[in-house]
This record gives sequence, structure tokens and C-alpha cells, in this order.
Amino acid sequence: MEARLLALGLCVVLSAALSECYSAEQQDWKIHDMNRPRPEVVSPGEKPGEAPSDAIILFDGKDLSEWVSAKGGGAAKWKVENGYMEAVKKSGSVRTRRGFGDCQLHIEWATPSEVKGTGQGRGNSGVYLMGKYEVQVLDSYDNITYADGQAGAIYGQSPPMVNACRGPGQWQSYDIIFRRPIFDGDKVVKPATVTVLQNGVLIQDHWVIEGTTAHKKKAKYEPHADKLPISLQDHGNPVRYRNIWIRELPEKGCRQGSKGD
Ligand code: MG
Repeated sequence: MEARLLALGLCVVLSAALSECYSAEQQDWKIHDMNRPRPEVVSPGEKPGEAPSDAIILFDGKDLSEWVSAKGGGAAKWKVENGYMEAVKKSGSVRTRRGFGDCQLHIEWATPSEVKGTGQGRGNSGVYLMGKYEVQVLDSYDNITYADGQAGAIYGQSPPMVNACRGPGQWQSYDIIFRRPIFDGDKVVKPATVTVLQNGVLIQDHWVIEGTTAHKKKAKYEPHADKLPISLQDHGNPVRYRNIWIRELPEKGCRQGSKGD
């Protein structure tokens, strides 16, 4: 009897949890139901790459007010001129003041027009989502290196699907859609995922991130906060960035593996 009651109780709890999971996105709307809430109006930019009305501008070419030094949180020591910021060798990586989790990030970058170095030593930088998961920035135009370390790679994990790089010194863009990992204590309930378009070309298609970016070792997750700053890597090369904006994305329904995800 007790076991049956327990089972019944579990059923009630589970079905309540499931209906909560589905309620955000899986309600049984009729087709073309006029009662279905309509999406919020967002004004897109006038030209491709321009920030839409609901974006947070992280860099508009004028100052580093949204950025600090990744180490220690002091003033960011990167150069700002002519509408871009530029990594200064040995000044360290920079990070956003604010933390972000699920997001859509637009960022433009250019490797030096004067080509110096080879492989990983040529125009190396990187976009670190949550300060942990690197989308590689590299001059990969006619520059041979390991595939999972070229521009657009999820470093050490996933090569870009194609090499969509422009030449040295030319402006390029990443449009990144990132879903943060979900942890329950030390356990990964749901790994992070990332989709990347480089110069409008899909190069990462919902890649399931394996863990914190590591060099020459297998990535693994370390539990962390829901929101963390995005950082840009100083790898000793004067890589430039401009027009950086972000849209925070709402969490998708129930994030624990339900069909609403
Ligand atoms: Mg890098």
C-alpha cells in the first residue's frame, strides 16, 4: 500500500514537473490561434551586422567602458583607435564587465594586414564565451595549422565546417548563438551548445561543447555560475575588434532535456 502511494506521489510530482516544462513552449495552441502571444517587436539594424534595438552594445568603437582586464578586473589595456580595439601584446586578455549566459553575440575582427608568424602564431586571439569556451580567432587565410585550432574552431574540439576566412587585415564577423551549460552541483545536466556563422557562412552547427577550453588535453566541465563575462584573448598578436553587441536570450522552457528544449 505504502509503495503504491509512493508511486502515485511520484507520478503527481513528475507530471507537475513535466507540465511546467512544457508550459512555456509546448502549450496546445490551436493552429493560427489568435490568442497565442505574439513576439515582441525588435527593430533590426538598417544594414547587416548593425545592432538591433534590444541589443546591449559592448563596443561601439569609442571606448572600453564595457571592458576590464580579464586578470584582476582593472582597466583594460588594449588600444582603441579608428573605431576598433586592438590587443596589446602582454597586456592580457580583456573581459566584459557584465556576465552573460545564453546569448546571441555579434563581433567583428581583423588579423594584422602585415603577415607575421605561421600556424598558431599568426593573428591569434579568441572569443571566450563565459570566459571558458573559445571560438578561435586566427589568420587562417592560406595558413596551415591543426584543424581544431583554425579560425572558427571550438578550440581543441570542433574544426569549422568550412574555411570562410577573408584575407589578413580584412574585417570579418562572427555571429554566435550560445546556450550555457546547466549544472546540478558537480554534475553536468546539460552541456553548452554553440552555433557560429563566419562572414554569414555557417561554420559551427549547434556544436555540443565538451568542456572548458584546454590546450593539448581533453576538455572537461567545471561547474560555474549562470552568467559569466565574455573575454577576448591576448595571444601576443595585434588582432582588432569592432562592432560588438549582444542579445541575451531567454532560457528555453525546461532546460533539463525535455522536448521543450
Ligand atoms: Mg586563440
